[in-house]
Amino acid sequence: MTTSNTAPASIALEESATFDRKTIDYIQRAAASGLYEIRGLGAKRKVPHFDDLLFLGASLSRYPLEGYREKCSSKTVLGTRFAKKPVELEMPITIAGMSFGALSANVKEALGRAATEVGTSTTTGDGGMTREERDSSKVLVYQCLPSRYGFNPDDVRRADAIEIVIGQGAKPGGGGMLLGQKVNPRVAAMRVLPQGVDQRSAARHPDWTGPDDLVIKILELREITDWQVPIYVKIGATRVFNDVKLAVHAGADVVVVDGMQGGTAATQTTFIENVGIPTLAALRQAVDALDDLNMKGQVQLIVSGGIRSGADAAKALAMGADAVSIGQGVLVALGCNSETYVQGGQHISAVQDYAALGTAPGFCHHCHTGRCPVGVTTQDPVLETRLEPAVGARRLRNYLKTMNMELTTIARACGKQNVHHLEREDLVALTVEAAAMAGVPLAGTDWIPGRG
Ligand code: SF4
Repeated sequence: MTTSNTAPASIALEESATFDRKTIDYIQRAAASGLYEIRGLGAKRKVPHFDDLLFLGASLSRYPLEGYREKCSSKTVLGTRFAKKPVELEMPITIAGMSFGALSANVKEALGRAATEVGTSTTTGDGGMTREERDSSKVLVYQCLPSRYGFNPDDVRRADAIEIVIGQGAKPGGGGMLLGQKVNPRVAAMRVLPQGVDQRSAARHPDWTGPDDLVIKILELREITDWQVPIYVKIGATRVFNDVKLAVHAGADVVVVDGMQGGTAATQTTFIENVGIPTLAALRQAVDALDDLNMKGQVQLIVSGGIRSGADAAKALAMGADAVSIGQGVLVALGCNSETYVQGGQHISAVQDYAALGTAPGFCHHCHTGRCPVGVTTQDPVLETRLEPAVGARRLRNYLKTMNMELTTIARACGKQNVHHLEREDLVALTVEAAAMAGVPLAGTDWIPGRG
């Protein structure tokens, strides 16, 4: 019998399911540095999502709309419960809050211009309201975040709606980060913090300890704004059924639920991948909570976290959302993860700049570094010029218009004259998990797991 030190090829190449190459790389990096990883964008793990749902278009038992002759409305009204001036939009697709600091002033301006052109709203973020975004946005939602960076009563009065942020889907229970390389003099001045120093945002609001204090905060904001504008409450998706009920009891006009696929500019990877629940499950729980309170139609529901297309928006509306909000999709429309950026009408390669960050187009999640190769998430005076506001606004306008056309196309095919008439009955699920989470039947059956 002979022995050999060389293992058979089939064994040598067998990768461990538990300690795979990714895990080995993670452990070795942690061992070498003693640091956890921070990154941008959202969860990369696969979870049940809107891709796992399909529409039942009209056939013999339902009557479709004629695409070019019969209109399908996408008008959307948010904040009808108490506000004297609810937010009126041309489409149920809004732009989520992203901070000045994470994004450049040019990007903020591009978001405002695009949102205004298509008749939707954009939202501030941590770090306050910039002049550029207020001037360019017809409908601007002003966030009140735990950190209160840049938050002030004058801007509250300039807002078209206020959004109290309790949490974000990428990091429910945690605060954001802004690394020092992105804290330029303007960002530092708005936040009243030193320049070039890492900033952590608070995980909870300084002036409340529970839902009763939220009642007081909402009343305070209503008094400052003379009950004119809607008050939104945004939660990161965890115990959604109870949290939505508490937000409604506290007096919210609109509840925003952000699922775990929601994005972030800079958060610990372990947080992004391991905390929170998928958007699909969160949405169903939020709708159940509103139904339980008999508040569907009185309190509007916005869902966010991984919404990418008109089909995603249509599925969210069919499940019971009144509108969706998009963040990462906006960044991608602006050029995030693109091989090139556009300057003076020319496409210029950014591949070398991705390589300098140790990544490549399609794989980048390096927003936290402040070295965004395409000028979207940077405060660097050279890099930020790579995103020209007019170019960004045009691309984002096209994306939003496309999404809305896709949404109305699907609604028409389901026989609806209004996108808000889409309903859960129009949906089926491809997997048992998605059927259980979304509360819709598995395709080809009447079976909704967990419901008999
Ligand atoms: S391309 Fe820019 S915006 Fe996109 S992930 Fe990389 S750093 Fe972030």
